[in-house]
Amino acid sequence: MRRQRCAKIIATLGPASSGPATVRALFETGADVFRLNFSHGKHSDHRAMHGTIRDLEKEAGRPIGVIMDLQGPKLRLGEFKDGRVRLQAGSRFRLDLAPEPGDDTRAPLPHPEVFAVLRPGTEILIDDGRVKLSVSHQDNDCVDTEVVTGGEISDHKGINVPGVVLPLSPLTKKDRGDLDFGLRLGVDWVALSFVQRPEDVAEARALVAGRAAILSKLEKPAAIERLDEIIELSDAVMVARGDLGVEMPPEDVPGLQKRIVRAGRAAGKPVVVATQMLDSMVHAPTPTRAEASDVATAVYDGADALMLSTETAAGAYPVEAVAMMDRIIARVEQDPSYRSIMDAEHPEPEATVADAITAAARHAAHTVSAAAIVTYTTSGSTTLRAARERPDVPVLCLTPSLATARRLALAWGVHCVHTKDVRNVAEMVERACRIAAEEGVAGRGDRLVITAGVPFGTPGTTNLLRIAGIGD
Ligand code: PGA
Ligand code: MN
Repeated sequence: MRRQRCAKIIATLGPASSGPATVRALFETGADVFRLNFSHGKHSDHRAMHGTIRDLEKEAGRPIGVIMDLQGPKLRLGEFKDGRVRLQAGSRFRLDLAPEPGDDTRAPLPHPEVFAVLRPGTEILIDDGRVKLSVSHQDNDCVDTEVVTGGEISDHKGINVPGVVLPLSPLTKKDRGDLDFGLRLGVDWVALSFVQRPEDVAEARALVAGRAAILSKLEKPAAIERLDEIIELSDAVMVARGDLGVEMPPEDVPGLQKRIVRAGRAAGKPVVVATQMLDSMVHAPTPTRAEASDVATAVYDGADALMLSTETAAGAYPVEAVAMMDRIIARVEQDPSYRSIMDAEHPEPEATVADAITAAARHAAHTVSAAAIVTYTTSGSTTLRAARERPDVPVLCLTPSLATARRLALAWGVHCVHTKDVRNVAEMVERACRIAAEEGVAGRGDRLVITAGVPFGTPGTTNLLRIAGIGD
């Protein structure tokens, strides 16, 4: 089973999509990677969803990526008696440390550190800024506020306080417990929320210790200021537009999206564009035209993957949202102007053997109209360099590492197959041709451009380019 598009789809699982039948439908419709959002749900829920994905993976015979998304130092409301309330503009509303479920007069905000830094006049935004409060009185265990913009708020909705630097560590106690749990479960990616400094990424990397790859979510102004250093220390980044567009003016987000995608692509690190991509599909079976255009823009920008959040986690049309995203991506990629944009923004190869080989592979594939570029890789690094080239043919990644195959489910244009190491050139060619045919990437008479490293089985040695014909 091979996708007929290059940009990937990440679907967040949640109450609307956690059952095995829905997870399978999401995968069959186009989800390449699933996100488990540790801001919501219990460990038992995540364990069950992870198990469902791994069962599906076995059944489908395709590697599937799993991202665990840590809540990070994100402020969230506690719970409400009825799960939700509607706040009226002009009314008073209190946030406090009391554990009792909230109502339309107060709600728990279980973050003792923050009350001290809130001041009268400080604006508090709830649920990506949909509801706005203004602090009128502050104490050490509660604040009284006036509702500036009313609306519905519900259990665990996020809070942003854009004007204040909050004294919070990048990995909370909850994150550390979740991380330990997720790594034992065997997730492929760890997403770090509210990264502010490169040191935050380094700290997480030390804790993860190679057991998963690291995806830094860019959603704080401070992170944008040190973008290149953060990309350098991360395995992938996310344009986390939900919080980014609350912490910074919304009009800054489109330009930042382009800048981050370009910087990620130049570094050869996958970039995810996330949040509200098909937001109206939470309630409706079709998106707005503006949303269709937004999804298309992320693809034209060159993003590796696009993410669905509430649409698949809690929406009424999770499978339809994936199907819609799949169709928009495929349509953009068929547009001749997409190809010219990819070529025009092509980053220069770096002065390494691996880049010399992968750049040559792209040219060779184009020159001989090859059906695919086949990369043999252990760590996945050569395959990511090939994806960075944004070639006009699929990249078939053959790897003996299941972890690599799963991680690369996130990368642009990469179709991974988990297979044994090869021992010689004849075997390398034979296996590439056989798997390319099996996977529907190429047929009899087609050519393949194959990259590998000699001696075989030694990671980090890509130094060989071979052009082979199927049936030669
Ligand atoms: P979230 O991150 O869904 O975990 O908040 C994405 C974003 O902020 O856009
Ligand atoms: Mn966020």
